[in-house]
Amino acid sequence: MSKTFSLNDSSVVVIIGSGAGGGTLGYELARQGVDVVCLEAGPRQEASEFVNDAEEMTARLTWLDRRIGVGDTEANFPVFTCKTVGGTTVHWTATALRMQDHELRPQTTYGKIDNASLIDWPLSPEELAPYYDRAEDKMGVTGTHGIPRLPESNHYKVLKAGAKRVGYRHFNTGNMAINSEDRDGRPACRQIGFCMSGCVIAAKWSTLYTEIPRAEETGHFELRPQAMAVRINHDADGRVAGVVYVDQDGTRREQKARVACVAGNAIETARLLLNSKSDLFPAGLANRADQVGRHYMRHVFAGVAAIMPGPVNFHRGTQQAGHVQDEADHRPERGFSGGYQIEILPFPPTSLARLVSPGGWGDDFAAIMEKYNHFASLLIQGEDFPQADNRILLHGEERDAYGLPVPVVRYRDHANNVALRRHGVAAARKIFQSLGAERIFTYPLKSATHNMGICRMSARSQDGVCDKWGRTHDIPNLYISDGSAFSSSSSANPTLTIVALAIRQAEHIAKEISAGRM
Ligand SMILES: Cc1cc2nc3c(=O)[nH]c(=O)nc-3n(C[C@H](O)[C@H](O)[C@H](O)COP(=O)(O)OP(=O)(O)OC[C@H]3O[C@@H](n4cnc5c(N)ncnc54)[C@H](O)[C@@H]3O)c2cc1C
Ligand code: SF4
Repeated sequence: MSKTFSLNDSSVVVIIGSGAGGGTLGYELARQGVDVVCLEAGPRQEASEFVNDAEEMTARLTWLDRRIGVGDTEANFPVFTCKTVGGTTVHWTATALRMQDHELRPQTTYGKIDNASLIDWPLSPEELAPYYDRAEDKMGVTGTHGIPRLPESNHYKVLKAGAKRVGYRHFNTGNMAINSEDRDGRPACRQIGFCMSGCVIAAKWSTLYTEIPRAEETGHFELRPQAMAVRINHDADGRVAGVVYVDQDGTRREQKARVACVAGNAIETARLLLNSKSDLFPAGLANRADQVGRHYMRHVFAGVAAIMPGPVNFHRGTQQAGHVQDEADHRPERGFSGGYQIEILPFPPTSLARLVSPGGWGDDFAAIMEKYNHFASLLIQGEDFPQADNRILLHGEERDAYGLPVPVVRYRDHANNVALRRHGVAAARKIFQSLGAERIFTYPLKSATHNMGICRMSARSQDGVCDKWGRTHDIPNLYISDGSAFSSSSSANPTLTIVALAIRQAEHIAKEISAGRM
């Protein structure tokens, strides 16, 4: 029973974004009786409308508005996120890992690192742990809470055989937010493959068909799709008063708000705050300490693919269900700080061709593509250190369709990244070599899929944008509700932590409201 709220209803919490952060927060607030309006820039597309065609689905799901990359990133496509109800959880591959305790305390663990702006999280592993439990249960993460792991695909068996040969001990089909058995009203994974196209049977967790419809059923939640938030307004005291958005007909409207929570997947979160500058906040909302947009982290990524002696058929089976954890700890004797995950990651033929043979022409290219069904492929994903100058800025002249400055994503590799990546690539090559791979390809993955930092949590207001609840230091009724709030990246895929923090934040906001403080 979806609800409709009036634009003048200033008792609602307005959430910007319906992905992992926004969708979860929306349901968790609504089920506690808090009225929510969720503004989502993208359209609502149901799972039943998905097709198993990577090219078509990428075009239908991806955020294609212009972003400019500067430094060690793609110039024209620096960041890969989605613009659709459910956000990037429609597209994600659903690896759901917890951060390790030491990764929540990077400053304490790694000590002083040149050119890195490390801080410890202002919340402890013990405070976070119960919310990880709830997030795993909500998302049905395999390998946790007695939920069986997914079956072994052929691709995973290649990783497993190689991992054993090189002496690794911690490998499995991963902690995946994908049903391994019928659960929570959704079926078990049918191993159809290419989860990135969206899961037509909804075995993969996405807020599109879990949190959002459930929030609507509470009678306390209204989703407004194709509603692009362009500005957050405040009152004379500097408290959030409303959110201005452009609706599907191109009409500009303002939804009054008791609280605003921004969950636009980091880049858009920073852009919205910077675009909301006012006399009281001349450098952008919640930016008195000049911290909005800074300390942007992604992960240290590298890809290694190999042509194996026999058929692998890596296009069959759950896309990313294969994981080695032996390199995830912190062992400075390897020549870098932090650690990395090794995960399987197959590609459809067009993407594989672009990665392993960018020219895409000639006899060699044809020989490579003829071996498509012999390919195996691994992703290295390591901890990325924050740097104050890795940041999101507004372009001086270029404007988007709403007349807003387009975002500039400035990102440079830290020296630690270079050393970590070298180690990770060598490790992946060893796995393939141990199995007699015929040819091995290494390729960079320069477009970020994980966006963190930029409005980070900090104990002191001069080091970040928000406190341990995601509440901004400058404005008590403005919250950060996505990976922007991360104080460190860790080596873990970010979404489980985003969901855990959103559950925790909902509890906090509901309490503040019922205590009359907001
Ligand atoms: C190919 C791919 C694979 C991935 N695989 C994994 C994985 O295996 N494990 C993992 O942990 N993570 C994975 N991720 C990352 C994961 O998808 C994100 O961490 C997660 O979705 C982020 O949640 P979010 O709420 O911050 O943003 P999103 O889920 O992207 O949601 C943000 C939403 O906000 C909307 N929005 C933005 N700005 C505005 C605005 N101004 N007004 C209105 N709406 C707005 C967007 O349209 C979008 O729908 C993957 C990402 C990609 C691209
Ligand atoms: S492999 Fe499983 S989770 Fe992935 S899209 Fe297919 S059914 Fe869904």
